[in-house]
Amino acid sequence: MYDVLIVGAGVIGGMLARQLSKYDLKICLLEKENDVAMGASKANSGIVHGGYDPEPGTLKAKLNAEGVEKLYKVADEIHAPYRKNGSFVCAFGTPEEEATVRELYERGLENGIPGLEILTGDEARALEPALSPAASLVLNVTNAGIVCPYEMTVAAIGNAMDNGADLKVNFAVESIKKDGELFTVTAKSGESVTGKYVVNCAGGYADRVAAMVGDDFFKIIPRAGEYMLLDKNEGSRVSHTIFQVPSKDGKGILVSPTVDGNLLTGPTAVMVEGPSSTETTPAGLDAVARLAAKSVPSVNFRQVITSFSGVRASEKSGDFIICPANGVKNMVHVAAIDSPGLTCCVSIADYTIELLREAGLALAPRADWCATRENPHAFREMSDEEKDAFIKENPAYGKIVCRCETVSEGEIRQAIRQNPPARDIDGVKRRTRSGMGRCQGGFCMPYVMRLIAEERGVAMETVTKNGGASTPIIGKL
Ligand SMILES: Cc1cc2nc3c(=O)[nH]c(=O)nc-3n(C[C@H](O)[C@H](O)[C@H](O)COP(=O)(O)OP(=O)(O)OC[C@H]3O[C@@H](n4cnc5c(N)ncnc54)[C@H](O)[C@@H]3O)c2cc1C
Repeated sequence: MYDVLIVGAGVIGGMLARQLSKYDLKICLLEKENDVAMGASKANSGIVHGGYDPEPGTLKAKLNAEGVEKLYKVADEIHAPYRKNGSFVCAFGTPEEEATVRELYERGLENGIPGLEILTGDEARALEPALSPAASLVLNVTNAGIVCPYEMTVAAIGNAMDNGADLKVNFAVESIKKDGELFTVTAKSGESVTGKYVVNCAGGYADRVAAMVGDDFFKIIPRAGEYMLLDKNEGSRVSHTIFQVPSKDGKGILVSPTVDGNLLTGPTAVMVEGPSSTETTPAGLDAVARLAAKSVPSVNFRQVITSFSGVRASEKSGDFIICPANGVKNMVHVAAIDSPGLTCCVSIADYTIELLREAGLALAPRADWCATRENPHAFREMSDEEKDAFIKENPAYGKIVCRCETVSEGEIRQAIRQNPPARDIDGVKRRTRSGMGRCQGGFCMPYVMRLIAEERGVAMETVTKNGGASTPIIGKL
């Protein structure tokens, strides 16, 4: 029996598990997919938003303002890569857009955001030479940054698991029943777990999970955003994240470096059927290229290596919904966590823990809690001399599996062993970058499959791309 059951292993459920693992509690994360970070937390812009955008007085504004520095601190502790590169919000010569830049500056001050300043177009271009000559007024957001969203999720859950939390994947919650003080949460497979508290962190599916206890006071509106990711030789086109002034549809198309050295462009904002409508479209990708070129005309779109789409879990109020369930004691909804949910993951987790405390959860700090996680990128960060010495002791680190991203067998084996263990090809890819480069796995995939099969003690034909029936090979000829 668990103290806290968390439905959904995205960055929100994952960070909640990590922050809760400081206390003497039995925690279990329940995830319907074969790995963690399979919803919005795997496909978003990865921006640490400065906090100038949310409407003052909203929960979003409060948690964004608190969340930025909290996120950087936790990222340091759990070795989740980030860079404080700052962001620009640009007007392009119209009085309306320039008024919006000034409005965002004032709003940022009201939200208590440090380090904001307004630059002329020329001042901004002095810092960012590739910025369009048409950019006329720019909000410089110096506390903003970039993170890798799925690595943040993996690292948070890894740290929670190292501290004793459990993770059940392929556990698609289908019913939540309460008998006296105890919840029984049952998966589609028939497996059940019991717990004293339940937290709904199911992202785009949070309204469906809420409906399992009769709550229908919010409805998730799925809104997709399409992206194009460019090769590393475009990665230093800009150093800041370049936004255009936001519209009613969101923060607009950005051009940004990523923590891994690529260039990211997107996202669009289009209503879609459901949270898993993650297809890309010619119209969406055309819009990304056209609008990104407005901010940074020199982006070379012949260098696109992949495109993808993520679905925002929006709600009509426009704010996060973090509150106790209606009429069901000891259950909390953490829903409608659209942007800037990634930025706020630590502040959302801390806010949720306060709600659980108010509901009666006893929070006794653990003396043996470990804030840090073993750095999965320690090898990548070594000098050539250090690598040489390390390889002599650990020869698997001398065998390169992914030539595009220079990922070794040792790093892949480590990703399959370290919490939360990679169980499929995409899981290895998200943890190590093997398959993320120019060839997108064309060369390394069979090698990665062999390592997964070996490490997990299974036949190679059962290794999947991303769970379910996604087996790239079906047998031997
Ligand atoms: C296009 C786009 C751009 C964005 N850009 C940014 C940005 O730059 N900066 C920023 O701060 N934020 C950004 N966001 C927002 C951010 O991505 C989200 O706030 C965050 O990822 C939400 O995390 P989550 O854990 O709530 O949801 P998710 O990551 O979707 O996780 C929910 C999990 O619940 C699981 N689940 C669902 N139903 C069940 C069930 N019945 N049983 C078990 N498991 C279940 C899902 O499989 C999933 O893994 C963006 C979002 C999108 C889509």
